Amino acid sequence: MSDLYELLDLPRSASADDLKRAYRRKAREHHPDAGGDEDTFKAVTHAYQVLSDPERRARYDRFGDDGTSNGRSGASDPFGFGAGGFGGIDDVIDAFFGQAAGFRSGGGGGRARRQQPGRDVLVVVELTLEEVVTGVSRDVEVDVPRACETCDGSGAADGTAPTACTTCGGAGQVQRVVRTAFGQLATAAPCEACRGTGRSVGDPCGDCAGEGRRQTNRTMRVDIPAGLEDGDRIPVRGEGEAGRQGAPAGDLYVQVRVAEHEVFERDGRTLAAEVTVSVAQAALGTTLTVPTVDGGDVEVPVPAGTQPGDVLTVRRAGVPMRGGGRRGDMELVVRVEVPTGLDARQRELLTELAAARGETLGERGQGPLSRLRDAFQR
Ligand SMILES: [Zn+2]
Ligand SMILES: [Zn+2]
Repeated sequence: MSDLYELLDLPRSASADDLKRAYRRKAREHHPDAGGDEDTFKAVTHAYQVLSDPERRARYDRFGDDGTSNGRSGASDPFGFGAGGFGGIDDVIDAFFGQAAGFRSGGGGGRARRQQPGRDVLVVVELTLEEVVTGVSRDVEVDVPRACETCDGSGAADGTAPTACTTCGGAGQVQRVVRTAFGQLATAAPCEACRGTGRSVGDPCGDCAGEGRRQTNRTMRVDIPAGLEDGDRIPVRGEGEAGRQGAPAGDLYVQVRVAEHEVFERDGRTLAAEVTVSVAQAALGTTLTVPTVDGGDVEVPVPAGTQPGDVLTVRRAGVPMRGGGRRGDMELVVRVEVPTGLDARQRELLTELAAARGETLGERGQGPLSRLRDAFQR
């Protein structure tokens, strides 16, 4: 456990103001949203929580007890870090500087929405490598709540209309003042009475019990473009869960899983495979007919003198660019098979070959091995 003062670069005499300033700096530096390290951020936040509480600070100063051993960590956790979630950096910065801090990248303001949209949904489809190369249309089954057709998503029974929620006055959210380690913090929370919709349904629709949405099993055709990688996601806007009572729907994401291929190994747009040739084919050269991933054949010349491990490249026989387009290459790694089970005639021919090349067989002599020996004994 690091020293809590050291984590914040503070002397033990630091005042409460020093502490705030130091934490403000460290929080901006280490917040995961700003590219910082999560563990460091947690440690710094923990240090601040302990030292900003006079009682816990006194205990830490006297006994070195930082509260982690007895389960007190997170007890005064203002943003729920201990529960595994992070307050966004906006929350942290807002807490110090208010909404005008300027850390927000977008248009700012309006973080709390009037209506909570439906959740995003993920479905996984498995593709063969062949399908990745050509692109494919797939039917995917999506079983999520969709807008109720009876009430057209409003949740109100036929002939009635929802009225503004009396609890929140139709805003869908209520202001709440929360006491945090940084002092009082005003936050907007979804209204519980209307669950954030801002509307109240007097006479609920019988088919959706006033929810405005019903569990619906649908089959959707999704176009999957060529060239995707394992783990890629295709967004289908608005096809996720419907929101409550007419709130916008979430998105559907179709995630691609690419199955292993028996022959080809994929590396981006390149497909690699092994081809085996005989010693004679490697030495004298030949032409191989090789199947391609999309079911065709391609003639591949093997030059004379090809060595084991040499790579023969077939242009444009790999995977297309994402979304289709120029294809990568197919790379064939050459294996050379040494013949076994030779008959008498074959032995004779190979022996002749060896003799013609001055290679020694059977006993020690002037072959490559003896050259190796000489090299070591010199
Ligand atoms: Zn309905
Ligand atoms: Zn309300």
